[in-house]
Amino acid sequence: MATMKALVKSEQARGLSLRRVEIPTITEDHEVLVKVKYASICGTDLHIYQWNEWAKNRINTPQISGHEFSGEVIGVGKAVKGVQIGDFVSAETHIPCGYCRLCRTGNMHICRNMKILGVDTDGVFAEYAKVPEVVLWKNSPALSQHFASVQEPLGNAVFTVTTGGVAGRSVLITGAGPIGLMAIQVAKALGAGPIIVSEVKDYRLDMAAKNGADYVFNPTKEDVFRKVKDITNEEGVEVALEMSGNEKALALCIDALLPSGHISALGVFDKPFPIDINKVIFKNITLYGITGRKMFETWYIASSLLLNKRVDLNKIVTHLLPLEEWEKGFLLMEQGNCGKVVLKIGE
Ligand code: NAD
Ligand code: ZN
Repeated sequence: MATMKALVKSEQARGLSLRRVEIPTITEDHEVLVKVKYASICGTDLHIYQWNEWAKNRINTPQISGHEFSGEVIGVGKAVKGVQIGDFVSAETHIPCGYCRLCRTGNMHICRNMKILGVDTDGVFAEYAKVPEVVLWKNSPALSQHFASVQEPLGNAVFTVTTGGVAGRSVLITGAGPIGLMAIQVAKALGAGPIIVSEVKDYRLDMAAKNGADYVFNPTKEDVFRKVKDITNEEGVEVALEMSGNEKALALCIDALLPSGHISALGVFDKPFPIDINKVIFKNITLYGITGRKMFETWYIASSLLLNKRVDLNKIVTHLLPLEEWEKGFLLMEQGNCGKVVLKIGE
């Protein structure tokens, strides 16, 4: 039996374990085998590591974690047409069925039968990974291999920023985690201004400024609502991007928005909570939920922003670690003293 290194959720408790497991083999006609080069750590991976309530209810063990990656195609099933051996690829994480009503109406990213790579299937924190052709994205050889692994969360930022239309508009971003930081650069590239960021961690506020935010505020120390009003001549921002998953931040987005404005909500909340829905109604606000990325419009925009150097991931990827140092990466993410953390998996 040929084996590979893989980071496995093996126990129903906090942690992951780096162990040797069997290399996957192609068993279906539409499958593709990829030699993984780089994989980045996402908040979802952290939740699986921490074994939070969501992970307990969702993850079957043992399972290989990870879903953001870049790598090289080394095997293809009989029916695969879109990629060939040697191609440099990444992949969309949402695996659609292809036949449900949503898939058939341009909404594959919210397929009714959707499976998520590394959540419902074995993932990519491994030397080799098997993925269905439908989610593969062929990268330009001009793209750096470790940045290619970060396109999936960049796609979250792109989807969130583009739905409201930000050109020439004032934007409030709540939460400057890796995706919020990317959203700053994407919004700026698409002509937004001023860009105001609210974030509770000083390390990330500093990163927000370095990533091009015009104003950065810490809501635990400052009245961000008042600041937004001052900056926008008492009108409020035209667009708000909720990227923290914190209920106070969503309330701020609703309050600080110009009536008729647009909120794109990406952050995932731990539990349901009340919002003042009459403010949404009487302010004539659009509150737009974001799931994943539009397949594959978002990928075209994200890769264009990278290839044309409109977005610089050097300012977002703060750590590049060998797979063996995976736990250091997870602990960094847990503390929040980092931007994006990328693991180097193979040559
Ligand atoms: P992250 O957890 O690293 O970033 C969230 C940031 O929000 C942190 O820096 C945190 O300090 C900050 N924050 C917390 N409370 C705040 C408050 N009251 N005001 C301002 N900032 C506050 O996460 P990320 O990887 O950047 O992702 C952003 C969010 O999007 C997370 O909630 C994540 O779960 C979610 N997400 C959603 C999708 C989707 O498809 N909808 C996909 C990926 C991630
Ligand atoms: Zn479907």
